[in-house]
Amino acid sequence: MPHSIITDTCEGVALCAESCPVNCIKKANGKNKKGTDYFFIDFSTCIDCGVCLAVCPVSGAIVSEERPDLQKV
Ligand code: SF4
Ligand code: SF4
Repeated sequence: MPHSIITDTCEGVALCAESCPVNCIKKANGKNKKGTDYFFIDFSTCIDCGVCLAVCPVSGAIVSEERPDLQKV
């Protein structure tokens, strides 16, 4: 199952985007509720490798399930 970035928990650090082996993490336009940049995962490209979850420094910003209700694009 694809991973998801929780929009309003993400702090826009971008370690996930730099580490994704299939380059499916993109920066969104605008800011989240924290007022920071945020990223999102293209569910159709994600291969569920878990690298993004391992490198993200923000607790709870990435989850190992498809959550279009919590991940805005
Ligand atoms: S999900 Fe984590 S590593 Fe990726 S941009 Fe957000 S805070 Fe940074
Ligand atoms: S699980 Fe892997 S393929 Fe999917 S977004 Fe994270 S790093 Fe990219």
